[in-house]
Amino acid sequence: MAENTNYLLNCIECGADFFKEGERDFYFNKGLEMPKRCKPCRDKKKTRFKQERERAELEEILSTLPFEQIQKTEMPSTDSNASLFIIGNGFDIMHGVPSSYYNFRDSIGRKNTLRFTLETYIRQDDVWGNFEDGLAYLDREMMLGTLDDWLDNFDVLDEDDDDFSAADYFAAQDFATSQIYILTQDLPKRFRKWIRTLKPRNSSKPVDDIIKTDARYINFNYTEFLETIYGVPQKNILYIHGDRRDKKTQLVLGHGHDIDEVFEEWYQANKNRKEFQPSLLEKDRRYDHNDNPVYLGYFLKDETKGNWKSQMRYDAINNTVGLIEDYYENSAKKTSEVLLRNQPYFKSLAGIKNIVVIGHSLSKVDYPYFKEIVKYNKYSSELKWFISWYSSDGLKKIIKFVSEMKIPTENVKLFRA
Ligand SMILES: [Zn+2]
Repeated sequence: MAENTNYLLNCIECGADFFKEGERDFYFNKGLEMPKRCKPCRDKKKTRFKQERERAELEEILSTLPFEQIQKTEMPSTDSNASLFIIGNGFDIMHGVPSSYYNFRDSIGRKNTLRFTLETYIRQDDVWGNFEDGLAYLDREMMLGTLDDWLDNFDVLDEDDDDFSAADYFAAQDFATSQIYILTQDLPKRFRKWIRTLKPRNSSKPVDDIIKTDARYINFNYTEFLETIYGVPQKNILYIHGDRRDKKTQLVLGHGHDIDEVFEEWYQANKNRKEFQPSLLEKDRRYDHNDNPVYLGYFLKDETKGNWKSQMRYDAINNTVGLIEDYYENSAKKTSEVLLRNQPYFKSLAGIKNIVVIGHSLSKVDYPYFKEIVKYNKYSSELKWFISWYSSDGLKKIIKFVSEMKIPTENVKLFRA
């Protein structure tokens, strides 16, 4: 018998045979028009469209850019003593280091509980695209919903009940909050393990004409490639978020949100939701007390008036809410502590006249560091900024950064890295 490979169409682009009967039925049933191109050609066309859109966006931004653009080679040769370099993750990436958060994701594998937790319990479409920021969006409702399910599963009773089992109570709570431990314990361990493996995949020196070994450096990366690739002495570099070679210090990682603001935002958005009201109107038009754990955990003003199924249940909710709040506290980047610890360093930058930013995303979470530099600087209004860019997203961030920092646009020059 002949194999079922009767193709029905020819691709208008490459001429290949494609489209089987099954596919035709699918298209027909959905009322779709038959495709003109085979799958590989369709994908290529999509990529082309995407690239064209990005190119158009980039041209648009470049045409209205208020900053002068220079070539790397046009960088003025300034006094090393008056130059500060700021190095971000783009620096490692341009040296072929697989150091994006997508690389981190790939390093932990598909069936990993940490990955599952991050992708399930963080309320972001793409947790890896905006990783540190996303840590501020642990899903409270889902955490408490899980607790509710486990309390039911274990049938947790009140302490004065003959069949009360403390073991069941703790087991339910442990199950429900295990995600918090994964995020607070496993994530930093896994992250450090991954950071330790990073190395450049090529030996190019794309910023060789810019790097001055005797200038000063603030390195936001945990890696030492400034030293190993360009020979910058360690004493000239501040590893502001930690140095991976130093096993005792914790690598600084986290979001930059004010946790009270995040909570308030969530609270305001949810306080009027029907399912979180103290009393729910039932179908028989009678009011019933609500024992939704999110309601109990966050919306109950008077703790003596709740109608939880049991005291133990209320305690479990209370403890879990405490753990969730601890998580929020711990997942914030301790920027102010870092600033405090390095205050003498920032004061020592008073004589800097030029700041060269290479491969830094200029995210809001790092603004405080830049503000601290300007705060102690003698020349703050004349400070010259040389900032590298790579994509239209990068340019947008530079525009926002310059305006937020109130830097005069004529003090900013951009170069493509
Ligand atoms: Zn084709």
